[in-house]
Amino acid sequence: MSKVPDYNKVNAKIVEEFKKVVGPDYVMADNSPMMQSYMSRGIMGLRAVPPDCVVRPSNAKEIVEILKICNKNKIPTTPMAGGLSGGFALPLLENGGLLLELSRMNKIIEVNTDARYVIVEPGVRAGEVWAYFKKYSPEWAPPIADGAPPAATIMGDAIERGFSLVTGRYGPQADMVMGMEIVLPTGEILHTGSWGLGGVDEQYQGAKKDGFAKPFYKYGLGPDLHSLFFGSQGAMGVVTRAALKIVPHCHFKTVVAFGFTNWADACDATLLASKQEIGIADHFVMVQGGNWWLVPTRFQKEKIPKTYDYWAKLGIPEYFMNFEVWAHSQEELDLVTKKLRKIVLEEYKPKTGSVTEQKLHPIQIASRLKKPNKIAIPYGQWEQGFLFITWYVPWAETAECVELYCSKMEEYGFPPVMWIASIDHCRECIVMPIFCFDSRKVEQFEQIEACETDCTKLFLKRGWVNYRPDPTIHAPLTYAAAPVAYKLLRKIKEVIDPNMIMHPGRLAWIKGVTDPLQIPNYIVGYKKPAKQEA
Ligand SMILES: Cc1cc2nc3c(=O)[nH]c(=O)nc-3n(C[C@H](O)[C@H](O)[C@H](O)COP(=O)(O)OP(=O)(O)OC[C@H]3O[C@@H](n4cnc5c(N)ncnc54)[C@H](O)[C@@H]3O)c2cc1C
Repeated sequence: MSKVPDYNKVNAKIVEEFKKVVGPDYVMADNSPMMQSYMSRGIMGLRAVPPDCVVRPSNAKEIVEILKICNKNKIPTTPMAGGLSGGFALPLLENGGLLLELSRMNKIIEVNTDARYVIVEPGVRAGEVWAYFKKYSPEWAPPIADGAPPAATIMGDAIERGFSLVTGRYGPQADMVMGMEIVLPTGEILHTGSWGLGGVDEQYQGAKKDGFAKPFYKYGLGPDLHSLFFGSQGAMGVVTRAALKIVPHCHFKTVVAFGFTNWADACDATLLASKQEIGIADHFVMVQGGNWWLVPTRFQKEKIPKTYDYWAKLGIPEYFMNFEVWAHSQEELDLVTKKLRKIVLEEYKPKTGSVTEQKLHPIQIASRLKKPNKIAIPYGQWEQGFLFITWYVPWAETAECVELYCSKMEEYGFPPVMWIASIDHCRECIVMPIFCFDSRKVEQFEQIEACETDCTKLFLKRGWVNYRPDPTIHAPLTYAAAPVAYKLLRKIKEVIDPNMIMHPGRLAWIKGVTDPLQIPNYIVGYKKPAKQEA
């Protein structure tokens, strides 16, 4: 691993400066076990180091002061909301720098049911915002991540461009964001979209009363700055408030499920129904499925049968798709589910013969409809470690992608656990392999990275994109294949963050390193001795 020349460690003097800003109770620099404990939240990231120091601000003004200190001293700075994105909110360079832990900023600032948005601070957790709406605005639903634990934050997921419980209808999480308040690394505060217009009369500001317009139009004041911050993985600035669309929370709901004997039928039948859009697929808020391997890997490896024959006898189809349907009335629900069955069983099935409807038990339906659900958590049972990787693929190419992926996973000795979901009426697919592995064995980390490197090379050639790029694989390989985009993004990054202090390494941006393919040399390994020191 090479040493990064341009960053400094947090020293005692800087710690004192932080304490003056947020108070001594909210700065921690001398408690090694606690620093390590932040690492344990990154259950899905393969590489990370503990920070030198953790600071827990309570508002945007404190963040302005902290970033000025970090900028002056060239301290790597990593923002963390819930820390459950899989280790993406953890430092990656040898001197970990500052972890800006935002959980104290946990207010729901405003709910507007006419313009239909909620404004949240970064520490508002999915479970909290869901409970708040259930109690105070039950006719509206906030777009929390579909399968993330209740302790993940709604803002963290939006910045990540993740998939929410209504992604099948409304698109990726980033599409749900109407505006943001962002502290830039230079200490300025930017509001994106219509929210950027200041000097607005009080009665036009909404309940936030901050002097600015309402966040009702995301493209705002000219060319769009808004999108620069999505997928930025903490490398552009610190989002201190975000306005997210809320959607009607229809109370007539069900789940319709179909089983298939191959990936192509699962994907093609789903596309046929979803691209109807108006009146039918607009009610499919979440359309998701996968292969039978999703079932056994939720249990301990030693204690569970691993051949399909066993699961077939229990009625588990080899491949399946679930359609979660929301409607305003029973009549509307019946109309939609009837039409869905007609498309899949009467229009699609006669062509292939491989489709059957799965009759779900009411308990299965209720468990699927419960939000936030905890469906994804048990994958840690199989062998301690699990890692989600996520790709966006045109829906019509999904079957090809998952077949390639599953065979690669098997080649590297992993069970081919594969989950897919529709984004915006199957315009695209989110393809998510779940690597279940033994996190006590370094060789398994190496195998995952080797498998993912193979897949990335195959996928980039097919034009598929990773949406939560890993710093040593996806980000460098992707940017190397998009040199103009990389050059421009880097220039913009240098304008916004001249010393490149924000989460260096995370998105192939490190001060003084201009070739994205060199970035992995600077990222920490998994507790192996350093290979080389520059
Ligand atoms: C079991 C499990 C299931 C999951 N299921 C889903 C799912 O169904 N859908 C889905 O989309 N995701 C899912 N995830 C991934 C993840 O939990 C979500 O994306 C989550 O909402 C991220 O929020 P967080 O608060 O944990 O983000 P963090 O981990 O705190 O941060 C995410 C990224 O954003 C940056 N960041 C955080 N806060 C800020 C800020 N205020 N300003 C600037 N940058 C910031 C961080 O540096 C990091 O790079 C799942 C994760 C787990 C463990």
